[in-house]
Amino acid sequence: MVDTKINNFAISRWRAEFVDPAMERAYHLHVEADVAQFLARALKLWALLLTVFAWADWLQLGNSPGFYILSGLRMAHVCLLLCLAFVLPLKPHWATWGWPVTIVAIAGYPLFFAYPYIMPDTGAMGLAIMMMMLLSVYVFVPNRLGLTNLVALIGFAMVIFNSIIAGATLSQLILVTIVLAWPVSIGYAAAHRINTGNRKAFRALRLAENTNLELEEEMTRRKTLEVELQRQALTDPLTGLSNRRQYELLFRRELERHRRHGTRLAMGMIDLDHFKRINDEHGHEFGDQVLRTVAETLQEPLRSCDILGRFGGEEFILILPEASLQQGIEVAERMRKALRSAAVIKDGKTIHITATFAITEVCDKDENISDLIRRADEALYEGKRDGRDRVMEAAAA
Ligand code: GH3
Ligand code: MG
Ligand code: MG
Repeated sequence: MVDTKINNFAISRWRAEFVDPAMERAYHLHVEADVAQFLARALKLWALLLTVFAWADWLQLGNSPGFYILSGLRMAHVCLLLCLAFVLPLKPHWATWGWPVTIVAIAGYPLFFAYPYIMPDTGAMGLAIMMMMLLSVYVFVPNRLGLTNLVALIGFAMVIFNSIIAGATLSQLILVTIVLAWPVSIGYAAAHRINTGNRKAFRALRLAENTNLELEEEMTRRKTLEVELQRQALTDPLTGLSNRRQYELLFRRELERHRRHGTRLAMGMIDLDHFKRINDEHGHEFGDQVLRTVAETLQEPLRSCDILGRFGGEEFILILPEASLQQGIEVAERMRKALRSAAVIKDGKTIHITATFAITEVCDKDENISDLIRRADEALYEGKRDGRDRVMEAAAA
């Protein structure tokens, strides 16, 4: 998951690391496995080369105590290099942390330090080896630039110290400094380029990820909006019930099913009783609140496949798939009772509301929903005349 809050991608000029520690940590985490693998290989190669050099020592020194001292130091360093190489797969974050390889590199210096004392006539060779070593740690050993500088600084100090002990003149010391400055500057420039380049690639990846995330968020937002618009287009804003467009669509679908498979289909009309009075006595806003409560109450006894829509004003329409006239009447009766026992409280006063229902069933002659509405409407009228709060049967002629 991309943390979009971390967006400071500035890279420091000299260390070639991200200025923001959180971004640098994220980068470490991203490259750690690769760096650890590469570093482990580099350490093994380093150990191999160091071991091969023992042969050169033997050619020079034979089986002398000096050879054994150098071999001992050499093997100790080889062991350290191999230990780190084998630990890295278990602790890959050591590779990006940088200190373990720094310490192991510095731990190899006693070998170089001992060289001029055991083989005094190899000073120039020692310097050449130190040049190679410095170049290698910069270019071949992946590490944080600041720590590589530390390794180089200690190596440099050690060569100068050895030269002073050996009685070097000032001009010789300047020469040694210039000679070592060469691999250090080339190594530093190369490592700087590699480290900066890698971080720039990481920055590009992060930006691409952020853009993708923003696009994904935008798509989700649009989808939600689309669903909402669709919902608004199909529902009545006051009650949340299906609007005319929606229930007519659903009715056509059910009528089709009835014609094709012979499934029964009941339909009903509901008209609230004396609703005008509620508006007149308590205001239109309260009337709206009652309509919302009525919509909720009427839905309670329904199955999920049943459709309750707002026909207009205080009139509702009911579509009951796979229900006969008799079953429709039973459902309507349950709705009527539920509505009767529901109450809306206004200023401490409980207001009861009732409704008149008319139920009919689709017959072969019915062509569309209007045919059924007409039939139900007539029955509703009768229900009103007969005293309201009742379920009327509107049988097909
Ligand atoms: P009955 O059906 O029992 O004969 O009486 P009624 O008072 O319900 O009859 P009528 O159909 O004449 O009145 C319906 C009233 O419903 C008229 C109008 O004030 C009210 N009405 C219609 N739509 C809305 C609405 O969206 N909000 C509110 N608050 N009232 C509405
Ligand atoms: Mg009415
Ligand atoms: Mg009415």
